[in-house]
Amino acid sequence: MIQVNEGQCGLCAHFGEHHGETQQHVQIRRSHEAPETMLDECGHPRHAPLHLKVTPHSGCDGFEPAR
Ligand code: SF4
Repeated sequence: MIQVNEGQCGLCAHFGEHHGETQQHVQIRRSHEAPETMLDECGHPRHAPLHLKVTPHSGCDGFEPAR
């Protein structure tokens, strides 16, 4: 498992946004830990057309905290 901090994809509202919230995403937001091999699509309007795939500990200035 890897540590996920504020400002990183795992805690961002856009992480996997296109398929909706899964149990795994909820768990990452609660525990701030994610599997090393995890990859998901970023749903930020500026990345979505490119199908950008990110890890839970990637990040960008488009970060918006997940609720
Ligand atoms: S790349 Fe940026 S906008 Fe997309 S999930 Fe990560 S922090 Fe959020």
